[in-house]
Amino acid sequence: MPTDSSAPDVGELTPPNRTLMGPGPSDVHPRVLRAMSTPLVGHLDPSFVEIMDEVQELLRYTFRTDNQWTIPVSGTGSASMEAAIGNLVEPGDTMLVPTNGYFGGRMASMARRAGGEVVEVAAPWGKPLDPAAVSDALAEHDPDVFGFVHAETSTGVVQPNVPELTTAAHDHDTLVIADTVTSLGGVELRVDEWDIDVAYSGPQKCLSCPPGASPLTLSDQAMEKVLSREEPPRSWYLDLSLLEGYWGEERAYHHTAPITNVYAIREALRLVAEEGIENRWARHRHLAGALKAGMEGMGLEMNAPEAYWLPSLNAVRVPDGVDDSEVCEVLLEKYDLEIATGLGDLAGEIFRIGCMGHSARPENVVLVVAALGDALESLGADVDPDGGVAACRDVL
Ligand SMILES: *Cc1c(COP(=O)(O)O)cnc(C)c1O
Repeated sequence: MPTDSSAPDVGELTPPNRTLMGPGPSDVHPRVLRAMSTPLVGHLDPSFVEIMDEVQELLRYTFRTDNQWTIPVSGTGSASMEAAIGNLVEPGDTMLVPTNGYFGGRMASMARRAGGEVVEVAAPWGKPLDPAAVSDALAEHDPDVFGFVHAETSTGVVQPNVPELTTAAHDHDTLVIADTVTSLGGVELRVDEWDIDVAYSGPQKCLSCPPGASPLTLSDQAMEKVLSREEPPRSWYLDLSLLEGYWGEERAYHHTAPITNVYAIREALRLVAEEGIENRWARHRHLAGALKAGMEGMGLEMNAPEAYWLPSLNAVRVPDGVDDSEVCEVLLEKYDLEIATGLGDLAGEIFRIGCMGHSARPENVVLVVAALGDALESLGADVDPDGGVAACRDVL
């Protein structure tokens, strides 16, 4: 109780102990939580400068890139997204964006705010981009920048054929920005081999780290465009030519780095390196494969076919006769389990079940299959919960 009677009497922090299997955040590894409780040093302390170097090296490993320009941006995934788009798109530039999900729409909003002109390559929600449609759009609009979403968290779709898209873009001298927020550290992603110019991500999806410091990588060529802009980007905070002073050779003050979040992402990335990036991709496929088998085994349908199924975000069709929000409420109340409903064009049609980072473990997958089967059956859907559990166990 506060001694000052006018002070708010707020109790101790006791959030419920949830299992996070939604579209992010995912469960944080205990080692990451421990790293966050270590004492602060200054953001220019020689020991912190070393930590910054280590984070950059670990990020390059995880992105599969040699890009010198690889940093954690202070802020959530949307900050690294806006750093990418706001620096690369200059007033009057044209940016080609996709229409096949929620985050393509966010790319368009950011490009417009940067003074860019937006053109679209169309594909329905729940489908990937067709390389032929991308080629046609590139030929028609000759854009300066092309953005696509590698792992669309709103639809559970992974974009296949990435090298085909980047080759087509480069034939038009178009730079490519990839949204890898829900793929980095969970789904195969090869920035250099696939010739992606700029990739941004977030820490709270497949890296299982709290939000706060968000990965970004740019090729030398992309950085050249950024550093030769005629006018500075509209955001001072996210101006990469200024951030260069802090993350580049100089290490001069720009803003105070979120020290604790940098500790956190360092530990999260150390876990990636220990596991091995390819093993980590394989683990996500295996465990999400068991989850998918469980869904199909109880009689549910995945929204994406195998060819572009996204293991880190499983979009499952809502069966007839139940309300999706009600199902999610039962899971939260009875099982302390978080999954999400659909949004945008798929609102009411799908459940979104994450299988990311530290959340991608056999016990969580079994819990989701058993708990969802129970919730659906209790609300009157025609499902076979035992068949789901058996199919899931077969894969595990
Ligand atoms: C979560 C997400 C973002 C935005 O990240 P925030 O951390 O919520 O700002 C962007 N793109 C995709 C594909 C995402 O899943």
